[in-house]
Amino acid sequence: MNIQDYIRDVQDFPTEGILFKDITPLLNNSEARKLMLEKLYNKCKNLKIDKVVGIESRGFFFGMALADQLNAGFVPLRKKGKLPYSTVSQKYGLEYGEDELEMHTDAIQQGDNVLLHDDVLATGGTAKAACDLIQSKGGKIVQCNFIMKLDFLKGEEKLVPHHIEAVLNY
Ligand code: IMP
Repeated sequence: MNIQDYIRDVQDFPTEGILFKDITPLLNNSEARKLMLEKLYNKCKNLKIDKVVGIESRGFFFGMALADQLNAGFVPLRKKGKLPYSTVSQKYGLEYGEDELEMHTDAIQQGDNVLLHDDVLATGGTAKAACDLIQSKGGKIVQCNFIMKLDFLKGEEKLVPHHIEAVLNY
């Protein structure tokens, strides 16, 4: 099975000029989905992780599954105004527009070993904002883990000195 066959390219979504990598075919095939989870897990299975942090919304799918396998807590980072309890927030620039991420103030404890997970690393603005939130609460980022990395957007440079892992590179 070639797992790349389950990532669909959608031209001009959400705005003109963007080639969107769509993971819904991957989610919709149990064999491909299990293989992706295995590949993601292989990249972090030897780490001691207290919390997996997943970024809304596509970071929730595999983020929660990884937390299960790692016996770790799961922390959802959400867009502004979605989380019910008290939050810390961070603004960031996107490949297309601007946004703000929030995290519950009690989600991460000082010294927690954290795995950050999202579907796509593009310009790195989102993941950088997530790292800043985690670190503002004393979390230690052990790995930033992605389904895929869009190398031409150089997101990795924004995440220095964190350790980046991705199953697919484009
Ligand atoms: P960045 O902040 O530019 O790195 O963009 C990453 C965020 O935007 C992630 O939360 C992704 O889910 C989303 N994103 C950016 N490009 C794509 C794409 O081509 N497919 C799916 N999600 C994307």
